[in-house]
Amino acid sequence: MPTGHRKIIIAIDGYSACGKSTLARALAKRLHYLHVDSGAMYRAVSLYVIQHQIDIHDTDAMAEALSGISIHLSFENDAQVTWLNHENVEEAIREPRINQVVSDVSTLSAVRKEMVAQQRRMGTDKGIVMDGRDIGTVVFPQADLKLFLVSELAIRVERRWLELQKKGIISTKDEIRKNLLLRDEIDSSRDDSPLRKAEDATEIDTSYLTPEEQLQIAYDLARSTISQKELMD
Ligand code: C5P
Repeated sequence: MPTGHRKIIIAIDGYSACGKSTLARALAKRLHYLHVDSGAMYRAVSLYVIQHQIDIHDTDAMAEALSGISIHLSFENDAQVTWLNHENVEEAIREPRINQVVSDVSTLSAVRKEMVAQQRRMGTDKGIVMDGRDIGTVVFPQADLKLFLVSELAIRVERRWLELQKKGIISTKDEIRKNLLLRDEIDSSRDDSPLRKAEDATEIDTSYLTPEEQLQIAYDLARSTISQKELMD
């Protein structure tokens, strides 16, 4: 097999707004891999829950809702587009109202079971960079390379605020800070697949790194992981 052609699975986890998706997208592009932002799937379930006013603590109602949900990801010009029951919801799932409920929805094992099964199917052929909260611990515990991103809170707030501004969504920094802290807390303390760093993950503090610097670090790690795999083939 020619050098550099061995495909691997790369898992990127970490707290909200640490730059996971930006890094995962850029890394996948450079490696010619598929990038999957797994958070989009939990966001799509949350949108459905809001649209249908479902009480997420009503187990039967949630089971029925899940049977009526089909989530599909398509990839256009390196960008992921999220479809909920054949409707393009890529923009709708980024609205602040989703941030209010997504972490609660994501605590539900019934939801996680479905999402994880779908995510694992996407990794069958390897050559994938997936970002989320439980990718290195639960979805792909056998991932060849695991990165765990952390960043200072003030920088995460600024980043998310700028992102929302660009989209014309008005939100105060204080609201963003509270929401990030709340989501971190719910994501880290849930019983099913809590957010935590996998033992074999490499931690990257993105606070003072440009996106290009982050990409270079991740790309170098990916290249050396691929080379090691090829030596073992
Ligand atoms: O990454 P993003 O901020 O879009 O994720 C939204 C939410 O989805 C997270 O706060 C978390 O509650 C949930 N999530 C999860 N597991 C993943 C990805 C996201 O629980 N693998």
